[in-house]
Amino acid sequence: MPAESEAAEEAAVKPVVAVVGRPNVGKSSLVNRIIGRREAVVEDVPGVTRDRVAYDASWQSAEFTLVDTGGWETSVSGLAATVARQAEYAAQTADVILFVVDATVGITDADEAVTRVLRATNRPVVLAANKVDGELQEADALVLWNLGVGEPFPISALHGRGTGDLLDAVVEAFPEAPEAKSEDEEGGPRRIALVGRPNVGKSSLLNRLAGEDRVVVHDVAGTTRDAVDELIELGGQTWKFIDTAGIRRRFRQLQGADYYATVRTSSALDRAEVAVVLMDVSEPLAEQDIRVVEQVVESGRALVLAFNKWDTLDEERRYYLEKEIDRQLSRVSWAPRVNISAKTGRHVEKLVPAIEAGLASWDTRIPTGRLNSWLKELVAATPPPVRGGKQPKILFATQASARPPHFVLFTTGFLEDNYRRFVERRLREDFGFEGSPIKLSMRIRD
Ligand code: GDP
Repeated sequence: MPAESEAAEEAAVKPVVAVVGRPNVGKSSLVNRIIGRREAVVEDVPGVTRDRVAYDASWQSAEFTLVDTGGWETSVSGLAATVARQAEYAAQTADVILFVVDATVGITDADEAVTRVLRATNRPVVLAANKVDGELQEADALVLWNLGVGEPFPISALHGRGTGDLLDAVVEAFPEAPEAKSEDEEGGPRRIALVGRPNVGKSSLLNRLAGEDRVVVHDVAGTTRDAVDELIELGGQTWKFIDTAGIRRRFRQLQGADYYATVRTSSALDRAEVAVVLMDVSEPLAEQDIRVVEQVVESGRALVLAFNKWDTLDEERRYYLEKEIDRQLSRVSWAPRVNISAKTGRHVEKLVPAIEAGLASWDTRIPTGRLNSWLKELVAATPPPVRGGKQPKILFATQASARPPHFVLFTTGFLEDNYRRFVERRLREDFGFEGSPIKLSMRIRD
């Protein structure tokens, strides 16, 4: 099972706005002004590298990721070179560049160095003439026309003056928004797919959970009926079990069980949020069991592994089962496991907490600021390996979506599979994500 870490996949990320400019022009103040109270802002101590570089931000109804390039590593090659390098990275990763200049100082060498970099890219640039605290200073801003990157917007990051017009211009420059992906937050009962190869005990478990021994209907017609879902109350909550008719249908064995199981599983997964994969411990784990697990991971649903028929287990079989699990299910070691017996009811009540844990992970959103302070530490301790003589840099990251969590790393070069797997492992160690797949992709721009 791949770690779902596709290379360079274009994920549906929010627009990225990078704030560039030489030190002390007020980049951090502007960043703080824009994000307001959205995320706890780390106070900047002069001379200390900033802890965070990227934040969640919004203006009117537009949401975006705001990147403070001042938090990127500085080099020793001189101020103008450092600032130009930061601008270059910004141009590679951002959709819009917010170029901040100190209107009270006017154009400096470093400002000109940034301008040269920005002119060479085709990214839209919005020019902020900062420290225009009152009308008297408005004239100072006019001289910044000479930079040749368009209209200077006079602002005061400190007092908020003019930042509305500035943000209007920033939002105006966003690329055409792809249609808002509806995240299917329908708010009804949470949806569970109970899946597994034939005869593992799905129908028995369903009966056990529904608290009734239904008469099994021998349906010989074999025509496809509409999937029927069932509401079942468990642990004080109502859950929607997807396509229970498909689980209970007995004719399936006559229909080419393998094929039928695969098709049913995939259509149930389409509509579910979490999958309980049932396996039969009275037999060796089969290739078909593993295939079902893979199907779940590929579908991006939360996953719970339920080992059924535990009542049949003796010492010897138990020993081999552990080995099989280690060998064949190590790729989903993040999935909670419950050992149950649909027949006796053993530990069936443990399913609900496992399902809840999986769904909570699946729903998780890590705020961009927090994600980036975490990432900064990670990369400082273990930088990506050099590739083709070059050290790829991870500039910042955002979580593009939840359900399942999908992270996008903005980089200056290709990150090896191994390194991406390492990042995923550390995400799991530090943030949990028990029971949920994680997607990790990179965005590299030329
Ligand atoms: P399905 O095809 O996955 O729906 O499986 P069924 O629910 O039809 O069960 C297949 C067989 O396994 C039946 O004979 C069940 O009685 C038996 N079975 C189901 N769960 C258990 C269990 O926990 N313990 C034991 N010993 N047998 C079980």
